[in-house]
Amino acid sequence: MIKFKRADEIARMRRSGQLVARVLEEIRVKAEPGITTGELNAIAEEMTLQAGAVPVFRNYPHPHRGKPFPGAICASVNEEVVHGIPGHRKLQAGDIISIDFGVILNGYAGDAAITIAVGDVAPEVLKLLKVTEEALMKGINAARVGSRIGAVSYAVQQHVESHGFSVVRDYVGHGIGKAMHEDPPVPNYGREGQGPRIKAGMALAIEPMVNLGGFEVYTAADDWTVRTADGKPSAHFEHSIAVRDSGPEILTLL
Ligand code: MG
Repeated sequence: MIKFKRADEIARMRRSGQLVARVLEEIRVKAEPGITTGELNAIAEEMTLQAGAVPVFRNYPHPHRGKPFPGAICASVNEEVVHGIPGHRKLQAGDIISIDFGVILNGYAGDAAITIAVGDVAPEVLKLLKVTEEALMKGINAARVGSRIGAVSYAVQQHVESHGFSVVRDYVGHGIGKAMHEDPPVPNYGREGQGPRIKAGMALAIEPMVNLGGFEVYTAADDWTVRTADGKPSAHFEHSIAVRDSGPEILTLL
């Protein structure tokens, strides 16, 4: 069931979103060669607790069996798509790292992701990052009253595939509010006429995951980390937005 947000709820979500944006910006600055993904996790954890918020990915239940997620951030390097577990891995020049991060502050969730280039990165990989972020913005721009969720999906997929990259099918965006994951699902592929009608008060996390090679992915032996099947790099950008009569408002933009 889709939960539509009142103006005061959107105002609270804006504050959650701002915290997420500040944490991601701090991580973006600190993601230099030599730092570990665990150290980036500690930065997120500390900023979140200082703000009186809860890092909502920590202890997130595993969808099937498996242990709860052990980090505050998902840190996914190179061919890792999403849900990478932060730890001892040191970033190296030429890596890309996708950071997905969410909080609950004053009862409302914020959720966003960025992919960061560490040092000098191959031109085709930089292009992957650029196209993925552009696809996110095109998806957001399609989230307008009267359209369907499929308009978002279609806009993302069109942009990605026009550049020869592929959209991950197995993981999708979602509604967001008091819970990090609410209805409706927001796929990054599909047709404009599909899915529920978009109305004012919808809050959505739109999050294309885009692969340089094929769209197939698999889950690693740690039960969480998702990798591309062909070992080629993957990028991930996400914003939480609120749909208003005047258009989409990005809640997780600094
Ligand atoms: Mg999300």
